[in-house]
Order: sequence, then C-alpha cells, then structure tokens
Amino acid sequence: MDKQAAIAMIKRFCDANATSGFEDELVKMFKDQVTPFADVTVDGMLNAYANKKENQAGKPVIQLDAHSDSVGFITQAIRPNGLIKFVPLGGWVKYNIPAIKVKIRNQDGEYIPGVVATKPPHFMTKAEQNNVPEVADMSIDVGSTSREETINDFKINTGCPIFVDVTCEYNDKNGVFFGKDFDDRFGAAAMAAVLENLQGEQTNFNVVAALSSQEEVGLRGAYVTARKVKPDVCLVLESCPADDTFTPDWLSQTGLKRGPMLRDMDTTFLPNPHFQQYACELADKNGIPYTRSVRTGGGQDGAAIYYEQGAPTIVIGIPVRYEHSPYCFSAYKDFKASVDLATAIIRDLTAEKLASFSQL
Ligand SMILES: [Zn+2]
Repeated sequence: MDKQAAIAMIKRFCDANATSGFEDELVKMFKDQVTPFADVTVDGMLNAYANKKENQAGKPVIQLDAHSDSVGFITQAIRPNGLIKFVPLGGWVKYNIPAIKVKIRNQDGEYIPGVVATKPPHFMTKAEQNNVPEVADMSIDVGSTSREETINDFKINTGCPIFVDVTCEYNDKNGVFFGKDFDDRFGAAAMAAVLENLQGEQTNFNVVAALSSQEEVGLRGAYVTARKVKPDVCLVLESCPADDTFTPDWLSQTGLKRGPMLRDMDTTFLPNPHFQQYACELADKNGIPYTRSVRTGGGQDGAAIYYEQGAPTIVIGIPVRYEHSPYCFSAYKDFKASVDLATAIIRDLTAEKLASFSQL
C-alpha cells in the first residue's frame, strides 16, 4: 500500500469516534476502505467481516483480527449542578483521566465538547493536591449551569457515549504519529493495508478480515467472529503497549521503531509455539525486524479466537507508547513492518505447514 495513502488512512481511523458498544463510525470507515478488495458484512454487534474478493468455497480459512473499539466512557447520570457522572469503558487508570478533552455524542447524534472537570489548585487542600479522586467522584463539564440545561438543551443523558478528543498528527521528520486511540486503530489500518496488498491475488487460504467490537470490555466481539468465521489459523493485529520509556534495555520487549512484537505470553494467551517460531523465521528471511514478549499483564482477541476454535493463533503487535491514555506515539515503520509480516505469512503459509504446527 502506498505510504501517503496509509498515513492518511491511519490518521482518519485514529480520529474516528469509536468506543466499546459505539463502534459504528470506525466500522463504516473500515468498510469504505476495504470494499474495493473485499465483500463486507456487519452483524448486530457491529462486528465487520471483510471476505477477500478472490475467496473460493472449500479452501481453509485464515482469520485476521483487529478491534474497532478503543477505551472511552459512557454517561451514567446528570448531577444536580449539570455536570455529567460517567463510567469508564475499558481499562483506564484514574491517573490518566482528569483534564482530558472529550466529545459527548448527544441524543440527537451531535458531538458536544467537554472536559473532565478538576478543582483549581487554588481550592485544593495539600492532600487533594497529592491525590487523584476516584473515577466515581469525577465529572465531565460541557459548560452547563444546571441539570435541566444538560438534559434539555445539550440533550445529554444516561447512555450517551463519551470519546477522547485528540486529533492525530504525523511528523514526517521522524516518521511518528501522535494522537489518541492507537489501540487498535493501527491494527484496523494494518488489516485494511494487508487486504490491499493482496488485491487480485489467489492465496492458499481464504482471507477473512474480522474487525471485532467490544474488545476493551472483555474480547466480546472476537468470541462471535471466531464462531462465525471458523478459522483454521488466525493472525491478530493488535496495537501493543510499548515499554521502552520505563524499562531497562535488557528487559524492554516492545519499543518504538523496533518492529512488531510477537507475543509469547500474556494473562489470556499462549500462542501455538510452532506457528510463533514459523513467523519469526519468516520475518528473519524477509529482513523484517521484530521483538518477542512475555507479559504478566494485558490480554487480547487472540485468546477468544483460540479458545473458540483451537486454531493456531499469533499476535502481531504494533508498538504504541502510552496506550490507554489520551495521547499515544507510534511509528510508521512499525506499522509497515507489521503489514509486511502479515502479508508474507498469508503468501507463504500452506495447509501442509499449518498441519505441521499441531503434529506431535
Ligand atoms: Zn487493543
């Protein structure tokens, strides 16, 4: 895929408003992006399935996975003073939430700007200055002066989704993106780029690129996509948290500009080791840089797909600094290397090689 087109696509995807349960905006973008190369269907949970146009009945299936949702918030109730009490969607820590700029989609579908309200330092006690309140005690302010105004004029009430509001920028000098929601917009963009790379090609496997919903709240969409696609083998394209800014070099396993991370372990998942080894060797053969990681935290869609179908599954992780915060960095180089590796696997893998992954 052309570099400038890829950069434009990534920026578009990252700016989309899509949090768990409210993925429609990104799903539509993804559908428009891949429609020239795939037939796309969407189910009632907003999972999208892009079937490569050249797929033929009877071939084994390789499922690609990325997820459409990012961490966000949902309106729980309107406080008497008009401020919004909210609940996180996905894995936030409270330290990353105060003073974020957000957009709330109101009941008319309009986007209302707001901010996670903080008490000015002038009014804080010493104890307050050194502590972050619980999320349950935080509020979002849209500039309203009463509960009635928020509900009747701003049309915001229980159930309205709340999105982080940061515009993605690309720095041409160092090849690095800066923006929000890189988890998993880089994975979604990588899936689209892989489909474009394989345009018009007959492959050994039918390719189904499934964009799953609700990953951040428990891999929910991927359980459904796995049952529907019934893959024989699966590649998960996940944006993975980089550790290179706070981990000594000998222990750092996911870093900016070090290529994709192939995950050997997280709290949900251990990949098929033969498939993992095959992917590493193919990357070496193609001169694609990568790292391997053993994580004691985190999880991803690969677990759901693996549990449902027992199909050999690996994770190709695109490193993201400061994941699950409002501001992230990722490198074009890592995106490109991830797309190249996924494309190389789809071109190289055969039914015989796949069978060898489960031979005793
Ligand atoms: Zn993710």
